[in-house]
Amino acid sequence: MPPRNSIAALLLVLPALAWCSLTHAEQPLLVVGHLNPDTDSVCSAIAVAHLKTAQGIPAQAIAQSPINAETRYVLDTFSLPQPPILSRVAGRRVFLVDHTDYSQAPADLKQAELIGFADHHKLGGLTSDKPVEAWAAPLGAAATVVTRMYDSAGIDIPQGVAGCLLAAVLSDTVRFKSATTTPDDRKAADRLARIAGVTDIDALGQKLLEAKSDIRGQSPATLLQRDLKTFDINGHKVAIAQLEFPDLTLIRSMREGLLDAMQALKHDGYHSVLLMLTDVSLEATELLIVSDDPAIAEKAWGLRSEGDALWMPGVMSRKSQIVPALQNALK
Ligand code: MG
Ligand code: MG
Ligand code: MG
Repeated sequence: MPPRNSIAALLLVLPALAWCSLTHAEQPLLVVGHLNPDTDSVCSAIAVAHLKTAQGIPAQAIAQSPINAETRYVLDTFSLPQPPILSRVAGRRVFLVDHTDYSQAPADLKQAELIGFADHHKLGGLTSDKPVEAWAAPLGAAATVVTRMYDSAGIDIPQGVAGCLLAAVLSDTVRFKSATTTPDDRKAADRLARIAGVTDIDALGQKLLEAKSDIRGQSPATLLQRDLKTFDINGHKVAIAQLEFPDLTLIRSMREGLLDAMQALKHDGYHSVLLMLTDVSLEATELLIVSDDPAIAEKAWGLRSEGDALWMPGVMSRKSQIVPALQNALK
């Protein structure tokens, strides 16, 4: 028979052991943005993971694929670690940010447990087995939606996280120039800037655009993938990429190469591949089009394209000015 002391010690240790095995089984909630993550996806994931953890639900931000140069600049500026790259989420609990389309989510999302989402796009067809936490609003950035989540929880936004969210608002709204910008985005940006200690919001926006439009050493195929999203539009597979520049002279010499890369991608079963070349100074977009339907531009926007390109003054937003028109055109 073991000595009484060891029995007492065992009785003390047992609950701790049980607790340990429980917490080991309970892996952190994964918070993830869309494929080809942008600054809004990465910063919103970091902020939601922090919020959930502060609320007693251990959470980890992840990215499905490597982050872009703009996001790297933002994380360095606000001293935040890069989220690990993880594209498999089966069996895990998952919170989505900045998308609800299965075509942009981890491929095995349906084998995961969806806990909730925070988004500012059209609904992308998500379903769930259990009730979910749903945060969605037609705002300029998912980061503004996430700021509302903090307010509603009454939890302070840490300085670095606030800086990251501010950068996400500036990036997604193209420094408040995009048609998707709302007064709430501006209000959130002002408050986030105060928390982050950013005194010149416009200077930060300029730095982001410089990082975002850096195309040195990049092949056309890589550039096409930089901010590319795929959609199932009424049964048609459509890819829409966007690149933003202070002005389009930077990209002129690459136009033919980009069209070749679009043509090559189209062979993967796409009905249409579109590339928005957005001129931030002129607040306009040159839309490059490779499509099975030569009249797609006319059907969608009532505009006749010149060859494979369409000049669209006032157009800067994929989600509000490109996707809805395509949904109507591809019925
Ligand atoms: Mg995004
Ligand atoms: Mg966004
Ligand atoms: Mg964007």
